[in-house]
Amino acid sequence: MKAWKKNIRQVVPYVPGEQPKKEKMIKLNTNENPYPPSEKVLELMKDPAQFDKLRLYPDPTASMLVEAIADYKGLSKDQVFVGVGSDDVLAMAFMTYFNSEKPILFPDITYSFYDVWADVFRIPFETKALDDNFHIKKEDYYGENGGVIFPNPNAPTGVLMPLSDIEDILIHNQDVIVIVDEAYIDFGGISAQPLLEKYENLLVVQTFSKSRSMAGMRIGYAMGSAELIKALNDVKYSFNSYTMNQPSILWGTASIKDDDYFQKMVAKIVDTREWFKEEMKQLGFHFQDSMANFIFASHETIPAKDIFMAAREKDIYVRYFNKPRIDNYLRITIGTREEMEEFLSFLKEFCGKYK
Ligand SMILES: *Cc1c(COP(=O)(O)O)cnc(C)c1O
Repeated sequence: MKAWKKNIRQVVPYVPGEQPKKEKMIKLNTNENPYPPSEKVLELMKDPAQFDKLRLYPDPTASMLVEAIADYKGLSKDQVFVGVGSDDVLAMAFMTYFNSEKPILFPDITYSFYDVWADVFRIPFETKALDDNFHIKKEDYYGENGGVIFPNPNAPTGVLMPLSDIEDILIHNQDVIVIVDEAYIDFGGISAQPLLEKYENLLVVQTFSKSRSMAGMRIGYAMGSAELIKALNDVKYSFNSYTMNQPSILWGTASIKDDDYFQKMVAKIVDTREWFKEEMKQLGFHFQDSMANFIFASHETIPAKDIFMAAREKDIYVRYFNKPRIDNYLRITIGTREEMEEFLSFLKEFCGKYK
């Protein structure tokens, strides 16, 4: 072996869901929003004045976007941090806050980026098993640790933790930083944001990727005490001042300001989800109640993998995780009503014929 090879950081990277390049497909595998972003964003996209601005570096503080988010959330500017998708915000948060010798804690079944960041930043971690109904057991997070992170609703289960349980975890973790990853909170959950007033060691992370239909723009943000936010910015400025590009700052601001559209689109997805749950039950699927824009379902007799493969043949993409405890589940993103109807008719035919 060449000597220099041992100086290379070895990591097993996160594997994102497939992004097939098909013209016509039903894509229910990466929790994207089936509806377009706000028209207000489209109007800005057509504005030629933006083009000339590309000569210049963007505002390193992204203050227009930070201010819009702060206003919308009723926070002050120094309580908001923005990044290139919440993946960027979370990676930065791992590096900034998780510097203890003690392991950080997160659930065994959760967003599969957490263990990847822990590995790449050499952060010790321990996972805590969800109960048999895929619920987080709050008592598991009482012991000494180097920090806590979990999504709420959890992914890929869709299970929402009540605010009282989150506060309970905070009460038991006053000496470390607790991160609540709220990528899906807009689809019917209650945000932990109000707890920021009481707990200055809490960071709440949200994204424009799912509820705001802007996964392609890469905009995420964190809300926390001024002290936590300053620490995040210090780390960000230590390796790249211009993480947010100019269009993200402008278009993200336009999206935040069009609240009517946002509320309408989210309500549509929630409606479709509730209807889809009933249909899926009738087809023999079971799942925990989901408060996200997906459901995580298992069929009573047919293996998830068989359904996944057969759907794929018909250019219908859902997510299948070949991992312990969840290898008989499908994570199905809620698309438009029409897409879900097509998926259901595929399922009806497939389940009817399956032996
Ligand atoms: C989608 C997702 C993210 C990351 O989303 P971005 O597109 O990077 O904002 C973070 N956490 C969870 C749990 C997610 O599902």
